[in-house]
Amino acid sequence: KENLLEVKNLKTYYPIKGGFFRKTVAHVKAVDDVSLEIKNGETLGLVGESGCGKSTTGRTIMRLLEPTDGQILFDGKDITELRGKSLRDIRKDIQMVFQDPYASLNPMQMVGDIVSEPIMNFTNKSLKSLKDEVMELLKKVGLPEDAYYKYAHEFSGGQRQRIGIARALALRPKLIIADEPVSALDVSVQSQVLNLLKELQDEFDLTFLFIAHDLSVVKHMSDRIGVMYLGNIVEIAEKASIYDEPLHPYTQALISAIPVPDPRKKSQRIILEGDVPSPANPPSGCPFHPRCPQAIAECSASKPQLKEVKPGHRVACHLY
Ligand code: SF4
Ligand code: MG
Repeated sequence: KENLLEVKNLKTYYPIKGGFFRKTVAHVKAVDDVSLEIKNGETLGLVGESGCGKSTTGRTIMRLLEPTDGQILFDGKDITELRGKSLRDIRKDIQMVFQDPYASLNPMQMVGDIVSEPIMNFTNKSLKSLKDEVMELLKKVGLPEDAYYKYAHEFSGGQRQRIGIARALALRPKLIIADEPVSALDVSVQSQVLNLLKELQDEFDLTFLFIAHDLSVVKHMSDRIGVMYLGNIVEIAEKASIYDEPLHPYTQALISAIPVPDPRKKSQRIILEGDVPSPANPPSGCPFHPRCPQAIAECSASKPQLKEVKPGHRVACHLY
């Protein structure tokens, strides 16, 4: 299968202004080195603790944020520096499902209007001519028949996320960036929304970048998984390789924290010392070295590059 998305050495830095003249005094290196690819029809899970840069990565890929460096190839086209109309055209093909359905929908807007809006923005179809199409979409995301005429505030969290999903689907995108789409929802409805996303993926030929802080959520959804730490992809591989033979010490710690139902398989939980350093002042060398239980002398001196150590399995660590 062909790659739908290829991201090469992406960096997204935010300036920190300071002093009397509000000059840029430093940068928050929110995304410091991200390389990944997603094949057509595949789901790549992107995992890491909050603040590791996964949302910023998603927003930069959508070009809602300006990349500082690196390259974004989408559907064979370099979209890193697109502007104006050509950027608008790409936006049709990449849609986002947001973490918080309460914040991302206008509670006083009619659901029919919410879902019609993106289509009306990109075509000259009228609200009236779209009605059947929008009603069909609402049905496909599992909303009741009369949802079209109701307001977003009349729905539960899980249903609001379904509205958000219908809106994201309205333009028939190729790629959906789902940024923690279930983490604001009750546990009881999380798996319903995840199952819905899987069904829609088959039906609409979707490719997903699925962002989560929880390895158990991405396990259900992903074909491959990328692990992020402090703005960097530290490991990326097929799902089975990540869970069964994690290579990076940080991934090993994340895996060891997943509760195992079978007591005979009980593995030793790896407890990491200290906190994640600030992305405004990342450590020298390997960004994980101050907390890494396996660090060697080289680790504080030079930054390991992501390299393929087994077919399809890349890791950024001096141990390999
Ligand atoms: Fe640990 Fe060194 Fe590997 Fe970084 S490069 S993860 S510090 S062993
Ligand atoms: Mg986030």
